[in-house]
Amino acid sequence: MQYGEIYVGGRWVPADGGGTFEVCSPSTRERVGRAAAGGPAEARRAIDAAADAFPAWAATPARDRGLFLLKIRDLMLERLEPLARTITLEQGKPLKEARAEIAYAAEFVTWSAEEGKRVAGETIPASTPNKRHLVLKQPIGVVGAITPWNFPSAMITRKVAPALAAGCTVVVKPAEQTPLSAIELFRLFHEAGLPAGVANLVTGEPAPIGREFLENPRVRKITFTGSTEVGKILMRGAADQVKKISLELGGCAPFIVFEDADLDKAADGLVITKFRNAGQTCICANRAFVHEKVYDAFQERLVGRVRTLKVGDGLAEGTTIGPLIDRAAFDKVSEHVGDAVRQGARVLCGGRGTPESGQGRGYFYEPTVLGESTPAMKVVSEETFGPVAPLVRFRDEEEVLRLANDTTYGLAAYFYTRDVGRVVRVMERLEYGIIGVNDPAPAVPQAPFGGFKESGIGREGGKYALEEFLEIKHVAMIV
Ligand code: ADP
Repeated sequence: MQYGEIYVGGRWVPADGGGTFEVCSPSTRERVGRAAAGGPAEARRAIDAAADAFPAWAATPARDRGLFLLKIRDLMLERLEPLARTITLEQGKPLKEARAEIAYAAEFVTWSAEEGKRVAGETIPASTPNKRHLVLKQPIGVVGAITPWNFPSAMITRKVAPALAAGCTVVVKPAEQTPLSAIELFRLFHEAGLPAGVANLVTGEPAPIGREFLENPRVRKITFTGSTEVGKILMRGAADQVKKISLELGGCAPFIVFEDADLDKAADGLVITKFRNAGQTCICANRAFVHEKVYDAFQERLVGRVRTLKVGDGLAEGTTIGPLIDRAAFDKVSEHVGDAVRQGARVLCGGRGTPESGQGRGYFYEPTVLGESTPAMKVVSEETFGPVAPLVRFRDEEEVLRLANDTTYGLAAYFYTRDVGRVVRVMERLEYGIIGVNDPAPAVPQAPFGGFKESGIGREGGKYALEEFLEIKHVAMIV
């Protein structure tokens, strides 16, 4: 397998000067591959290739664009096992989760292939007999996509598939921690016969490549998934050219257990949303609010379940919690737990890095439950992005809604109850873009995904995803 190259205009080529950077496993810290150290010059060439390919791709019937996508989907499912192993190698998540990611990633491709055929304009009745008003929906142009490391494959297809289905061409810059999954996906794009320049990949320096996306007028749209901090940099930069931008940023999801909830299902649900991908998903529960009447019973159920999780190398049989992505992530989780303990939280299980970390191996952190947590603690008020579940007591619905909404984030929120009136009241008042009612896994390819407030702008998923890559044109005519 040959890595260390970028994909521009349908060809694999080295970065100028041949530079590469190492990709290391977060489980072993050993090198698992190399990627090309591209920069603004490579990004510029990729943008040019995408711009050159745009007119023909935009003019290709949606049905035919969809056929390319379905071919890509077929190849992804055929190669599911090696693609999943690459995710686990460079990102650390358990192989079972990596396989699920590839299946999920492939679903975005299928869905977009089908939906591309349904992009339709409209005619609007005129106010005078001699006029006609048409609305056209046209692909916006070259898209610059910047993707994160937590879902190295799915976050690429979630952007690239609807962009291509809409008739746009793309340049992708994947996260520096996980470029190998991107490279493997692009090999499949090539194998599927995607015309040269329609999809391009540039690995390398984040800020300079990002700046090129912002400053190059041939890029008409930026789509980004990552931290709120970087999202704000991109949004400021996009202002100069009033460049269209969609942002899928951080979260601080509340998980509310009301007194009438099915506590077993709620405990199962919290384990799923909190500990999947070692707590490194933007929609994972960050803080659990538990009604005081059921607090002890819920805590006991939760801790019993969390103790059964198995930390280890994602490639090892039976592992359910892999490592954190890097040292910075490990340090942040340790700092949040330390801060909570200093402020009176009780460590009910976990609470430290596993011995492997101390021995200079992976960045493992034990799955942790913190009792008696409060909103003053960082682990409750900030995005921890790790396997730590802080439990906060609450007294009534009004109080918990206030606590849940008291954040600058607004991506996902979860609540468990069997009272249908409460379902309606609470779902309507939560200021979040994605709500799971007794459902710990609300994200599906056919539904909108995105946040309120500082969690983002725009939506991915379903028909909403395609809208982000289309311009609306009004044509008025006198006949
Ligand atoms: P995290 O903190 O979770 O790694 P980031 O927002 O830093 O999230 O990273 C998400 C993506 O944004 C990655 O592909 C990363 O390389 C990229 N990135 C980081 N900094 C910048 C920047 N200044 N401009 C453009 N992209 C950036």
